Formats: sequence, C-alpha cells, structure tokens
Amino acid sequence: MAKTNWSVPVTEALRAEGVQVAEFDASATPGFRPDKKLGAKKTAELLIEQRRPVLADLQEKLYANGRSGDSRSVLLVLQGMDTSGKGGIVRHVIGSVDPQGVDHAAFGVPTAEERRHHYLWRVRRQLPRPGQLGVFDRSHYEDVLVVRVHDMVPPEVWRKRFAEINTFERKAAESGITIVKVALLISLEEQRKRLEQRLDRPEKHWKFSPSDIDERAHVAAYQEAYQEVFDLTDTEYAPWYAVPADSKWYARLAVTELLIDALGTLKLDWPAAHFDVEEQRKRLRKS
Ligand code: AMP
Ligand code: MG
Repeated sequence: MAKTNWSVPVTEALRAEGVQVAEFDASATPGFRPDKKLGAKKTAELLIEQRRPVLADLQEKLYANGRSGDSRSVLLVLQGMDTSGKGGIVRHVIGSVDPQGVDHAAFGVPTAEERRHHYLWRVRRQLPRPGQLGVFDRSHYEDVLVVRVHDMVPPEVWRKRFAEINTFERKAAESGITIVKVALLISLEEQRKRLEQRLDRPEKHWKFSPSDIDERAHVAAYQEAYQEVFDLTDTEYAPWYAVPADSKWYARLAVTELLIDALGTLKLDWPAAHFDVEEQRKRLRKS
C-alpha cells in the first residue's frame, strides 16, 4: 500500500465534531502539507496512475461482492454552496471508478411530484444498491439548510427533521450502507472568484444562476444552519467531515482519502470462485 503523507489520519483531521463553522478556515489543509503539487500528485496516484489505482480497486471489490450476494454499499453525501466543488469531486474522484458501480443522484428544487411526498421520499429511493458506490450531490440536508434559511417551512417543522434524519441514516447504516458525509466549505472571497470565472467563460454560463449572488447575503444564516447540522447529525453511523474547499486540490484529495478509508473499513476481498478453477482450466484446454 502506498505510503501516506498525512500527519494525522484524514478521518481525524476533518471530523466535524467540535467545528465552529463561523470561524472555519476554508483555505487550510488539515493534516496535509499546504503543497498543491504534492497533493495533486498524491491524488493522481490514488485515482489513476497506478496499475490498479487504490480507489477503483476497492470500488471494484465492493461491486464484485455485491454481485456475489453481499448487501453492503457506500454512500458519499456531498453538501456545499454553489461553486464549492461538488461537481468537480463527482467528475474527478468518482469519475475515476467504473461508472456501472456508481449510483449517482443530484437533488435540486423538489419537483411537483416530490413535493407531494415526505422530504425523505426522494432520498430513500436513491440510496445505493448493494455493491454500489452511491453519491448524493446535495441531499436531505437541503431540507434543514436552504429550507431553513429561506423559511420555506416553519421552524417547528424543520426542527423535527434532525432527529428524523438521524433515524433515517441509522436505519440505512444498519441495512449495510456505510455513510460518509462531506461538507465542502468555501470562503466568500473564493466563491466570488469562482462565480466571476463562471461569468467570464461562456462555457460556464449554464452553471451560473443570478440567485447564486443573492445567496451570498445569507452566509451567516447558512453558517448557523451548518453548525446545527454538525452539532445534531454528526453520528458514529453517519459521520460528518468538514472539508476546507478553497483549494480544490485539497478537497479532492481529502474526499478520495475519506472514501478509501470508508471502503477500507469493509475489509473487502475478492469473492471466492464458486467453481473449481483447475477443473475449468482443463475443460477450457479441451474446448
Ligand atoms: P444546483 O446544485 O446548482 O443544481 O442547484 C440545486 C438547487 O436546488 C440549489 O439551489 C438547492 O438549494 C436547491 N434545493 C435542493 N433541495 C432543495 C429542497 N429540498 N428545497 C428547496 N430547494 C432545494
Ligand atoms: Mg447552482
């Protein structure tokens, strides 16, 4: 196994427990040297450069076991403001593994049909199937973040959701889903730069929404909402990681390592053959 460059295990360096969101340094690189070249090299090594890159290898083992009756799966929940890099993580990190083993779901403004159901309805049906690496680009947490910040439901309604979410995630974990929740936290300055780039580049206009600018005025309310999310829904069965995301190289490396850690806890091996290998070899020679 490749040697680690982390001074502390990534799970310890980034665990949201005790994090003060309003004071969070989004430009920090906890547990890793602030060295973009080294970080990017490390990520490339884990994702693409080896004969069997670590993440893709673990994901394939998960998939192979799923095909052999193992009911376990892994779910990465990605939360973060616009431009925080959720899409880049999906493209670069998740994009390095076999797409047939990925169950990807993005959650936007609820559709008319979704609004007729409980807010967890659309989420439950997108939970990863056995053997799959699930990715949520936004999630049920929008129902205690954007919904709260914009008073879309009264406080007594969103307040009850924290306990409900914990129960939902506990049941999912008990059914065999290893949950990894990542909040990509960027500074307002970095977000301005990224929004500016979206305006500068015609190929990025489709990603821009004028409401992204309005959201910037609500940063304090979002910080308060994220604080409660961390305080009330960071659990052993569904931990939150607060990932500083001003440096894209760091966020991508961190999420890669968090996924490798989560897959590692499953102690996956290749499923044993359900046939006699030698016998099949002989048959093949004769065929
Ligand atoms: P994007 O991720 O840029 O495609 O935008 C999706 C938008 O959907 C974001 O502005 C989210 O805040 C919004 N959204 C996601 N879930 C909900 C929800 N449950 N209620 C209201 N808005 C939501
Ligand atoms: Mg957007």
